[in-house]
Amino acid sequence: MTTNVSSVPAYAAPAAGAPLERTTVPRRAVGEHDVLIDIKYAGICHSDIHQARDGWGKGIYPMVPGHEIAGVVTEVGPGVTRFAVGDRVGVGCFVDSCRECEYCRQGLEQYCTGGGTATYNALDKNGEPTYGGYSTHIVVDENYTVRIPEGLSLDQAAPLLCAGITLYSPLRHWNAGPGKKVAVVGLGGLGHMGVKIAHALGAEVTVLSQTLRKKDDGLALGADHYYATSDEATFEALAGTFDLIVSTVSAPLPFDKYLGLLKTDGALVNVGAPEEPVSLNLFSVIGGRKTLAGSMIGGIRETQEMLDFCAEHGFGAEIELIRADQINEAYERVLASDVRYRFVIDAATI
Ligand code: NAP
Ligand code: ZN
Ligand code: ZN
Repeated sequence: MTTNVSSVPAYAAPAAGAPLERTTVPRRAVGEHDVLIDIKYAGICHSDIHQARDGWGKGIYPMVPGHEIAGVVTEVGPGVTRFAVGDRVGVGCFVDSCRECEYCRQGLEQYCTGGGTATYNALDKNGEPTYGGYSTHIVVDENYTVRIPEGLSLDQAAPLLCAGITLYSPLRHWNAGPGKKVAVVGLGGLGHMGVKIAHALGAEVTVLSQTLRKKDDGLALGADHYYATSDEATFEALAGTFDLIVSTVSAPLPFDKYLGLLKTDGALVNVGAPEEPVSLNLFSVIGGRKTLAGSMIGGIRETQEMLDFCAEHGFGAEIELIRADQINEAYERVLASDVRYRFVIDAATI
């Protein structure tokens, strides 16, 4: 049986930089391998703001942002085997990929070279625009849907679908764990998940924040140390300290200074996606055989692994639940680094 959920309520940016407003968007009929999800909560990622304001270019409008989606399955297509009506599920940053390239075959769908489909601000295989999670319902292929374990509340789980996996993947890839000194730059949505996950993995965790304003929170989240990057003495005190630094900063950073904080053979992994390029003095990586790398979200299998890891360790995100009519105000607060630590939209208010 298929139902055509032709038009569903959503919040959209009608044009680049315009405030988000209530509207309706089309959802496709539930196909053979699709699940229809009743969205309960959607997190606000800084990437939503970059894109709603066309900071990365090539934005498609009207744009319904949202790629931290948590909800409940209310209908399944006839070919669906992994989910049933009533299941608690999540959807992250992409809803399809080519399924054939070497990266898709390895479960690294986020690096698909055959044409992946982002959850919003993209065109699907039929050329139709995709609309994200600031909405009441979404139809997604079961292969791009993950299960939210019992023990994680849906509101605190939603931000894991982007913020959680974006930190889990590099922390695992670069072996954060016992005996490793890990720094997280920026204590926002991504950064606070980085602190929780790196701590749960057994690493010694340091927060590098602009100020000491959120120090008590950082230590409560699991950090062992907390420094202000506005204080030049921090860079002298911590020179040569870290095995791994993950930067979650949404603006261009002076990377040379941060590379100076690595040990020999250390890695600085950037996950922030600023709108402007950065400059680099290559001597910062030559001395000390250092790595400057990037990382983007995570694959479906690893996203499920991350959700199970968070459930086992008993944590989700720290959230501030908002109504849909507070989205624009929440965007301003994120831009002012005034978020503790993820805004989550209650979809019932859309
Ligand atoms: P967020 O909640 O705004 O956190 C970013 C944090 O960076 C802020 O809380 C602030 O922390 C720090 N910061 C902001 N401006 C700064 C500046 N000018 N100088 C130094 N520090 C600054 O944003 P988010 O949702 O975590 O996202 C962070 C970035 O990652 C965005 O660019 C987003 O697009 C990107 N992103 C990338 C991926 C990926 O796959 N690679 C996935 C999701 C998001 P303090 O107040 O502690 O200094
Ligand atoms: Zn995101
Ligand atoms: Zn692929």
